[in-house]
Amino acid sequence: MPELPEIETVKRTLAPLISGASITACRIERPQLIKHPSPEDFSAHIVGQKIVDTGRRGKFLLINLQSQDTLIAHLRMTGRMLCTPREYPLLPHTHVIFELDNDRELRFADARRFGCLWLKRADEEDDFTGISRLGIEPFDDRFGPEYLKEKLSSRKVTIKQGILDQSVLAGLGNIYADEVLFAAGVDPTRKTDTITNEEWQKIAEAIPPILLSSIANNGTTFSDYLDGEGHKGNNMPFLQVYKRTGMPCNRCGTTIMKIKVGGRGTHFCPNCQK
Ligand SMILES: [Zn+2]
Repeated sequence: MPELPEIETVKRTLAPLISGASITACRIERPQLIKHPSPEDFSAHIVGQKIVDTGRRGKFLLINLQSQDTLIAHLRMTGRMLCTPREYPLLPHTHVIFELDNDRELRFADARRFGCLWLKRADEEDDFTGISRLGIEPFDDRFGPEYLKEKLSSRKVTIKQGILDQSVLAGLGNIYADEVLFAAGVDPTRKTDTITNEEWQKIAEAIPPILLSSIANNGTTFSDYLDGEGHKGNNMPFLQVYKRTGMPCNRCGTTIMKIKVGGRGTHFCPNCQK
């Protein structure tokens, strides 16, 4: 599932291809993916609009329009937002196509169809995407060990579930939560009320560099994720525990294990993580 580094990469790769272009037509093959407003209103309001730039909030991709309306996308499991020359063949499972006036198309494809698109009008309150309930970004000045401790230490959930909670910290998902807890040396099944100050420090310090290095590698692709130009991410060889079940820990040689924590597949080194 695309997380902060993958959405940031889509944002950055789309920006030079679509900024300044106008949307001349909108073809909706699967109206169910349009969550707000109605597919008819979505199409009617977006056609003719000019794209200013791209943005990101948590795992949401934002396409900012000159009218101050915002096209918002969540890629969920297998969504892809691609900008291609108009003559390129469609990827399988392409459900929404925005024709642009620069001979390109912005295409939303999604094999499993959990992805969502919304159009937020400038004068509208966003009570439909979930963005208003997101916590701060990991690159926010307010983020640090004190913030995590304050938000999570009384919650009585596992630390894995705690750092995945989007209402606390926006953007971290399953891949990078596992990588962060390995880097911090913390067992993912620990309850948040047992985490020491030193461990909060290590967890908080691990988060920004792990995300930034994945962004520098254009994100992590296991199966579906592609950036805005259709390229796979290059971060997989740099992962220390995620999807390395049965392989030796790069630090100590112990076999990496996979367990379920809060219903999520969780990878860790039983020797390095206490
Ligand atoms: Zn280890």
